[in-house]
Amino acid sequence: MKRVLTGRFMHETNTFSIQKTDMALWRRRDFHLGNEIPAAFRNTRSALGATFEAADKYGWVLVHPVSANANPSGIVTDDAFEQIGGMMLDAARQGPIDGVLLHLHGAMVVESYEDGEGELLARLRNILGSDVPIIVTLDLHANVTEKMAENASALIAFRTYPHVDQYERAWQGAELLERAMQGEVRPKTVIARRPMIYGLDRGRHQAGPMAELIARGETLEAAGEILVASACAGFSRANIRDVGPSVTVTIDMARGDARPHGQTIAEGFMDHAWATRDYESFKLLSVAEALARARDGKPGDKPLVVADYTDNPGGGGYGDATAFLKSLVEAGVERVAFHAICDPEAVMEGMRAGVGVPTTIAMGGKTDPRMGGGPLILTGEITHLTNGKFIAYGPMGGGLERDYGPSMVFRVGGIDIIAISNNGQAVDLAQFTSLGIDPTRYTTVCVKSMQHFRAAFEPIAREIILVDTGALCSEVYTPELFDKVRRPVWPLDDLA
Ligand SMILES: [Zn+2]
Repeated sequence: MKRVLTGRFMHETNTFSIQKTDMALWRRRDFHLGNEIPAAFRNTRSALGATFEAADKYGWVLVHPVSANANPSGIVTDDAFEQIGGMMLDAARQGPIDGVLLHLHGAMVVESYEDGEGELLARLRNILGSDVPIIVTLDLHANVTEKMAENASALIAFRTYPHVDQYERAWQGAELLERAMQGEVRPKTVIARRPMIYGLDRGRHQAGPMAELIARGETLEAAGEILVASACAGFSRANIRDVGPSVTVTIDMARGDARPHGQTIAEGFMDHAWATRDYESFKLLSVAEALARARDGKPGDKPLVVADYTDNPGGGGYGDATAFLKSLVEAGVERVAFHAICDPEAVMEGMRAGVGVPTTIAMGGKTDPRMGGGPLILTGEITHLTNGKFIAYGPMGGGLERDYGPSMVFRVGGIDIIAISNNGQAVDLAQFTSLGIDPTRYTTVCVKSMQHFRAAFEPIAREIILVDTGALCSEVYTPELFDKVRRPVWPLDDLA
């Protein structure tokens, strides 16, 4: 019986956030140890769900010390990195381990390490030696480094944005791991990058350069020419040396040294990413423009879905920006459902007030009032209070439980404002329906998200627009903000 080490250690670090990601923040959401892990993930359409299925199929004994997936936020503390990473490394040390299938994000920045995953994989490789296959799935917003490519045997990134293929990518990794443990293949990964902070349309796979690279990679995989091709768009809210898009190609060393061939393929892919770096399929509206569109709605219309791109909790946004909500309240727009203000204090006040009693609450804008607007003093009534837990069955949900902490609906005029205690972007209709709100009955539905919301909300929308509220995830690129990035680099420098 092969013993396979698995687990999840996922964080997308927005280095501009003032919220350090410490153990308390890790434990608050999607954090499981040991035997809690099969209970939470078996029979779900998730990366770990696929891993358990693969273990059953291939007869692996799984070693699963920890599954941790914190909401994107600021730099990870050394303490949290050493505790969570340490659980995985301890399990590797105890051995014996025949293979590894880890689910990482690829954009984790730790106080002492800009490249959290590279550091973790280097330590793991040091313990296990060069012969044990280490297969890693990554988010397509990974900032992939040489160190990650060097220490993993294969890197397999998601190919969808919204990310709905974690399950398929984990299965791909499991099949490759089984072949590697059987000695059938010897995977090795090479990487190509260019001097660019962002590109590949931030990862949108429906059309454009990302679609092109994914199609090329899948053709080469199907032909057996390479084992894996992964294109990553990078995560650009990170002031680190190695921020930016990348392509990794995994070749089979059992067929001779195919590294030069893999490198040529990866460089060709990145030539395309470089040539198309200006390509953007999305357009951000100002608050005034988005408000005007919201005022156009008529009773009975399907919802206009307005996404606050810049306060996206999925990109490290604080989730409490108030700029667009303020404009809706001041304009008296009606039939609006607003997700969400992350504000545990406001929820506590709402719980003290209780349902149906007129009350005044200071909402949102508390984490950093410079980013997307300060607190709003609002008078209204609480219409729903919940513990914030439900099972997500939407396209990105996989049947997993979600926990947004104590939550409420605060009705102010014609606007139903959802307030939550655990930050998270809107990706599932149950984030509304679990609070008694049927979003299809509203003329305007507001969410905080860049792209993931589309999986669940596009089917109910009459139209989708994106708004820039000036919050933390604004697309601002200046040499001052990005002073740790390798130079020269586009768009900071003029590169022909
Ligand atoms: Zn992502």
